[in-house]
Amino acid sequence: MQLIDGHGRVATDLRVSLTDRCNLRCQYCMPAEGLDWLATDETLTDDELNRLIRIGVEMLGIRDVRFTGGEPLLRRSLPAIVAETKALPSQPRTAMTSNGLGLKHTAQALADAGLDRVNISLDTTDPATFEKITRRPRLHDVIDGLAAAHDAGLRPVKVNAVLLRGINDQEAPDLLRWCIKHEYELRIIEQMPLDAQHGWNREAMVTADETLALLREHVRLTPLDGRGSAPAEKFLVDDGPHTVGIIGSVTKPFCGDCNRVRLTADGQIMNCLFARTESDLRRPLRSGASDIEIAEQWMAAMTTKLPGHGIDDPSFLQLDRPMSAIGG
Ligand code: SAM
Ligand code: SF4
Repeated sequence: MQLIDGHGRVATDLRVSLTDRCNLRCQYCMPAEGLDWLATDETLTDDELNRLIRIGVEMLGIRDVRFTGGEPLLRRSLPAIVAETKALPSQPRTAMTSNGLGLKHTAQALADAGLDRVNISLDTTDPATFEKITRRPRLHDVIDGLAAAHDAGLRPVKVNAVLLRGINDQEAPDLLRWCIKHEYELRIIEQMPLDAQHGWNREAMVTADETLALLREHVRLTPLDGRGSAPAEKFLVDDGPHTVGIIGSVTKPFCGDCNRVRLTADGQIMNCLFARTESDLRRPLRSGASDIEIAEQWMAAMTTKLPGHGIDDPSFLQLDRPMSAIGG
């Protein structure tokens, strides 16, 4: 059995949201006051999560599992969930996308549990700009978390950055130099219409081409081949060995090669970040469905996957469910 959609794409990369809660309030993601979080009984338990991950990996061909959120480190049982995933016979590759707060204290436990690598979100190395973007004065925690991930042997340590016009867009070259100095791999992601407050606008978005042009004023970038199903276009910086990735989610969509599927913290399958329909696996899970029945419902959820996100289409409508509640 496979998670194949109506356009022939096969999902092998599962993104698991462990919670919709977060301890930052990034402007491009959430409003200052936060959101109405899921109630405890709406959130999948560890056993339910582990069971769905097992079904995905053992029955449906999932090979990569990424833990995300909200902020995945807010889920205390994260190391145990990672260990349970890694103990599956096919040993899927495991990764985490996190804001890095508190990672200083958990990086080693996560590495010991079998986590392979991390993407840590960091948009600036300037404390004031960090506080402006995230609405919290926690830059030092992220920097410590990154160092701890590196010390724990998680490789590669990637840094995800979103550029906001007039706030940190001119910082891209500095951020790249900082990442290279610390042996982190920078990936710059175009801002997408996924914020809870629906404040995204196409004109304000810093495009991948703009970012590339700015970086090229400071460094020599040589395109690398072989993007595959990875969203980032990678470039060698000053002839290597360091690289930078640019993710033009809006202007250079990679939907045709998408191999991802998402499981939300409340047990919904989303076949795309922008999917307008969700498929509920929590109900069957809690009403005694067998593994095979759940696997069949999961496969059925893939059939409605659209060929592309359609952000540039005039009829595009932003979802009510924000990125933090889907699992970015
Ligand atoms: N809290 C974790 C973090 O920030 O890494 C994981 C969840 S967050 C939703 C996952 C990724 O989505 C982060 O790298 C974040 O920068 C990115 N993100 C959030 N909102 C975005 C948006 N509107 N456009 C593009 N990327 C966004
Ligand atoms: Fe939290 Fe991540 Fe959203 Fe920032 S991007 S508010 S860290 S979930």
